[in-house]
Amino acid sequence: MGTFVIDTPSPEATERVGRALAMELQPGDCVLLHGDLGAGKTCFVRGLAAGLGCDATTVHSPTFTVMSRYPGSLANLVHVDAYRVGSAEELRDAGVEPGAPDTVLAVEWPERVPEAWPAGPIEVRITPVDTSARSIEIRVAQGTLSERVGATLCAKPCPSCRVAVGPFDTDWPFCSPRCRAADLGRWFSGQYQITRPIESRDLEEGTE
Ligand code: ADP
Ligand code: MG
Repeated sequence: MGTFVIDTPSPEATERVGRALAMELQPGDCVLLHGDLGAGKTCFVRGLAAGLGCDATTVHSPTFTVMSRYPGSLANLVHVDAYRVGSAEELRDAGVEPGAPDTVLAVEWPERVPEAWPAGPIEVRITPVDTSARSIEIRVAQGTLSERVGATLCAKPCPSCRVAVGPFDTDWPFCSPRCRAADLGRWFSGQYQITRPIESRDLEEGTE
């Protein structure tokens, strides 16, 4: 099991973590979100929606409807709130199909019907640290997804000044607007020209 812990200072940062995770998901994946009321589960799902190419502005807690479906350009998102659900059958009656191949399933309060979810889900646990900070633990079964999520969520050096920047930081992949502007300036002044034939190593991500 790969476990990643990220601290977010704001709701926007929590959304960005959800968005970064979504980029690594595939249709059929299931994300189970744990945390008390107000922890930030729906906020995280808003980020998942954005990462899957759904209209994230329409994502709200589906407490009274059990399920909401959002069409996305990369995958559809089904968002379930199982708080008031008593059985897997009740979920099916509401139209939830765990493991549906064209859909990423995101579930709040999954522990209410633990038998309902597909094997090997991605588990997200959000714990409030104070009014505006949260600790987010993401657990993924060992394997390629775990490696990809680890690579996506770990901090990388700012392209301008090399300070470590996480994907949840506002100016990702830069550490600040200043470094973003400095990089743009280098583009405009032609410093990123390649003056020899392109080799395959030039196209590998993360190389300089
Ligand atoms: P849940 O779905 O877990 O009940 P919501 O996502 O609906 O929680 O609400 C989380 C609340 O906490 C929102 O009002 C949000 O603005 C606030 N909040 C404050 N800081 C954070 C943070 N770092 N991450 C997520 N939400 C936060
Ligand atoms: Mg909620």
